[in-house]
Amino acid sequence: LVSRKKKPENTIIDIKGEKIGDGNVHHVMGPCAVESYDQVSEVAKAVKSKGVNLLRGGAFKPRTSPYDFQGLGLEGLKVLKKVADESGLAVVSEIVNPADIEKAADYLDVIQIGARNMQNFELLKAAGEVDKPVLLKRGMSATISEFLNAAEYIIAKGNGNIILCERGIRTYEKATRNTLDISAVPILKQETHLPVMVDVTHSTGRRDLLLPAARAALAIGADGVMAEVHPDPAVALSDAAQQMDIPTFEKFMDELQAFSESG
Ligand code: PEP
Ligand code: MN
Repeated sequence: LVSRKKKPENTIIDIKGEKIGDGNVHHVMGPCAVESYDQVSEVAKAVKSKGVNLLRGGAFKPRTSPYDFQGLGLEGLKVLKKVADESGLAVVSEIVNPADIEKAADYLDVIQIGARNMQNFELLKAAGEVDKPVLLKRGMSATISEFLNAAEYIIAKGNGNIILCERGIRTYEKATRNTLDISAVPILKQETHLPVMVDVTHSTGRRDLLLPAARAALAIGADGVMAEVHPDPAVALSDAAQQMDIPTFEKFMDELQAFSESG
């Protein structure tokens, strides 16, 4: 059902008026994790002032180590909902437990399924049963075919509002956190009718590569870019090394916009 052979025209997903997949770019920006109301609200103001209408922030954090910050959970979703109501932004946040999907739909505009859960089939099925767009990230060791099968699990349950997100894959290369598989973008666009985004933060893991990776993503046909922004990355509870502070984010957006307009 995700195949372009089944449905030749692009799927356009309307999220609070942002029409993802309409040929214009729509970015998703915000902190790695929700840490406090003040933190999210400060980032939301910066994001909105740069014309980005989709705000991200993790409440349930799938951390590699059990001793790292695990997120604020439901409290974090409540913070996002409050900021969304005040700012008019749409909010995107990861859900890791199938039992939380229905409740999460009351707080979020988009349900994110993360790389570590791309083949959590019960989670995929649960996301397929709610009337809420899903941002599905590629697993860190998933082939494109496995990625498409994961999306198929969601659409097979009735939810076709899926945004695919390339976020880098695990290779032998250690210069970046993951290897951004940029050619996945046009392949996914050719093979499916779904919008495709590129997460430049988790793929590169390097602040100095965010802008060139974002430019490459737009040049190759992505529908938008995801990146992380924090008021004070040095004290962030997760991903301190690659989140942008607000002045850096503003410069990033100005340069990305100039690039889009030049193209
Ligand atoms: C995230 O976007 O918050 C995240 C954890 O990314 P990924 O699932 O791609 O590692
Ligand atoms: Mn992160």
